[in-house]
Amino acid sequence: MPEPAEAMTALRERLGELDDLIQAAALAGWDQQTYMPPGGASARGEVLATLGRLAHARLTDPGLVALLAALAQDTGLGDVDARLVAAVGRDADRARRIPDRLVGDIARHTVVAQVAWHAARAADDFAPFRPALERHVELRRELAACFPEVAHPYDALLHAFEPGLTTERLRKVFTQMREGLIPLLGAITARAVPPPLPGPFPVARQRELALQIAAAHGFDTEHWRLDLAVHPFVQSLGPSDIRVTTFFDETTLTGLFAVMHEVGHGLYERQIDPALARTIAGTGTSLGIHESQSRLWENLVGRSEPFWRHWHPRLVQAFGAAALGGEDLEAFLRTINTVRPSPIRVEADEATYSLHVILRFELEVAMIEGTLAVADLPYAWNAGMQELLGVHVISDRVGVLQDIHWAYGELGYFPTYAIGNIVAAQLWTVIRRDLPALDEDLERGDTLALRRWLGDHVHRHGRLRTSGELLMDITGSELDARPFLRQLELKYGALYGLEGHPR
Ligand code: ZN
Repeated sequence: MPEPAEAMTALRERLGELDDLIQAAALAGWDQQTYMPPGGASARGEVLATLGRLAHARLTDPGLVALLAALAQDTGLGDVDARLVAAVGRDADRARRIPDRLVGDIARHTVVAQVAWHAARAADDFAPFRPALERHVELRRELAACFPEVAHPYDALLHAFEPGLTTERLRKVFTQMREGLIPLLGAITARAVPPPLPGPFPVARQRELALQIAAAHGFDTEHWRLDLAVHPFVQSLGPSDIRVTTFFDETTLTGLFAVMHEVGHGLYERQIDPALARTIAGTGTSLGIHESQSRLWENLVGRSEPFWRHWHPRLVQAFGAAALGGEDLEAFLRTINTVRPSPIRVEADEATYSLHVILRFELEVAMIEGTLAVADLPYAWNAGMQELLGVHVISDRVGVLQDIHWAYGELGYFPTYAIGNIVAAQLWTVIRRDLPALDEDLERGDTLALRRWLGDHVHRHGRLRTSGELLMDITGSELDARPFLRQLELKYGALYGLEGHPR
């Protein structure tokens, strides 16, 4: 074995090439969703499959594994190197323990299942998708069995997105959330729903304003791009190249909020320590923490009164008072914070969103446990929607078939969306304590102190700290839904006059 310093250099060389493969795949994937003509799909599929195979081979290469094992024994490593070795070690271990045969089966079945899902959606009938989902559940059970040490098989699926989190912990937190949200929702929905903004909001002006807000949140043309995509997303190609996408619709301002959301994701990637570039640790530590950053900017900043004290006059200037239903800031805030249970997750507001996620989590766990047969899923879905949101689901298309995630076999992914809400609120409590002048900053359109705080406490670490470690370091607590519930109660209490609401 080489000397420790040489071993670290050798590790970084290997990681550099592995990261380059991952970035090349990311660029091809970004292009696929933005500029690629539809006819390029099958050729692009081959490119992505090859890059994926090469990256997997490098990550499971015996030379890398031996290097990691030797370095893991080395007590003389500095903190950054030791954490890097641990993070890469976790990836390599997970990749090695899932047999190539199973990876191939999952990839092949995913192609079949997507076709079945599209057909089922077109027919508005779950039945044609059922066998495909049954096979996905079987394959995920097989995958979970590769990790016999976990307490619950669903933990193994969760760990692909949220390393270290357990089903047991998540159940507790989601129960806490559900018990707080349902009565709050009852109190809010007893009030009159504010009328929607009249519009129109011409797309060119929305884009201009979105870019102004993005610039105030750290977007600059040297390191960022804004493009259009049907489903908004962000792709980073390392900390110096951040690609945001959105979708503008003249009748609503959702494209503007999508930009705030995606810029929040992008800022995380942008503020990662540049020394972590080309190490595979130079990205967000988990999907839940990533989503906490987007929700923080979209909801806690972007739907707040101080923020709009600065931006509302600019909105009026851009679109005219008539498009906004008048110049009243209070009325505008009530409208952009409207709570209305709906059957569709991606259209859900801040208060109902997490209930959509809790339903999916409960159904996924039951399918993996075998206590819910896939054949009974539509019935369980509809009953759950009624129970959690009081929503009557009229058909499979707006019910159990609405999301593509299960067509990909992605069980364990949905919880990260609600974890984002929870973590954002936990961080916000500490941020408000550390930055007492934050409201005044936001009223001036100034986000520098907030960005610096997030950079120092969350972003710069990349994947060197797990989500659990990060939360504990910053908040002194595990995942906890109470700050989220408290903040919603305060906000809606003020907006809707719910002070007397018992809880
Ligand atoms: Zn997001």
